[in-house]
Amino acid sequence: MEYYENVIDLIGNTPLVRLGTMAADHPATVLAKVEYFNPGGSVKDRIAVRMVDAAEEAGLIGPGGTIVEPTSGNTGVGLALVAQRRGYSCVFVCPDKVSEDKRNVLRAYGARVVVCPTAVPPDDPDSYYSVSDRLVKEIPGAWKPDQYSNLANPQSHYETTGPEIWRQTEGKITHFVAGIGTGGTISGIGRYLREVSGGQVRVVGVDPEGSVYSGGTGRPYLVEGVGEDFWPTTYDQGICDEVIAVSDNDSFDYTRRLAREEGLLVGGSCGMAVAGALRVAEKAGPDDVIVVLLPDSGRGYMSKIFDDSWMMAHGFLPPAEGTTVGDVIR
Ligand code: PMP
Repeated sequence: MEYYENVIDLIGNTPLVRLGTMAADHPATVLAKVEYFNPGGSVKDRIAVRMVDAAEEAGLIGPGGTIVEPTSGNTGVGLALVAQRRGYSCVFVCPDKVSEDKRNVLRAYGARVVVCPTAVPPDDPDSYYSVSDRLVKEIPGAWKPDQYSNLANPQSHYETTGPEIWRQTEGKITHFVAGIGTGGTISGIGRYLREVSGGQVRVVGVDPEGSVYSGGTGRPYLVEGVGEDFWPTTYDQGICDEVIAVSDNDSFDYTRRLAREEGLLVGGSCGMAVAGALRVAEKAGPDDVIVVLLPDSGRGYMSKIFDDSWMMAHGFLPPAEGTTVGDVIR
């Protein structure tokens, strides 16, 4: 019989898919590493299992333990899934701006969700940072992974995603392109590829315009999961040969094109990363192999990037484009 003993065994070994349409004008081979094939639907399953393994080895969590993390997104889903299979409880603390749908995903896996007001400063006792710190102290056996300072985050990519890409491209990869959030993805994969290729692979970070990694101050942007207003310890500041800044408008435009032109329904940070990868491809030759990592699925963004009214309300679509004769008749 062919089966997996545990859903955790399905984490990793995601496929590479050629961007045959969007990159058709460029001579280079552009390949997408599609991370929504992980069981929790994102690249973050990889860091979740590695952070929990490291905490178990270090004795930071044990039977009856509780994982507490201020997150509402993909890392929460990964942690919830791993925690449940390992018999731990989970408490996620998130600001009230996070949609009810996202909170319900975490609850569906059996996690508890504590909602805090968005409109308070980080040092307010009710902020989601303060509440998560307090819960870690109050709950017996609690452990906070902290994906922004936990070096098991980049390490998981050094150990799994990097070697997968090298093996899948038979060592032919010349450029690796990824968005930067905690920096775990680019730092871990970048370090592995640089080492294994003897410095031949060029590492290119992609960042929302306004974020610190591309020289900004943290000015707000709408693309989710990438960009920061501080420098996390999980980001290796020497890893990128180049960092490309991409506007929200381009990120969302490329995200929608990935669904329509490549059949890849992916999130906004994927569109951003592909916008960066195609800029790299403009300068690349026929022997170049560019791998771009796509962190998650588009399912979590149906009421934003894939909703014409939301796109129009934010000025990303001209008012007319979303209204077709067909829509009116229906
Ligand atoms: N895209 C999405 C949707 C994410 O959730 C994240 C993680 N914050 C990233 C990109 C960036 O990955 P990393 O944190 O490894 O830099």
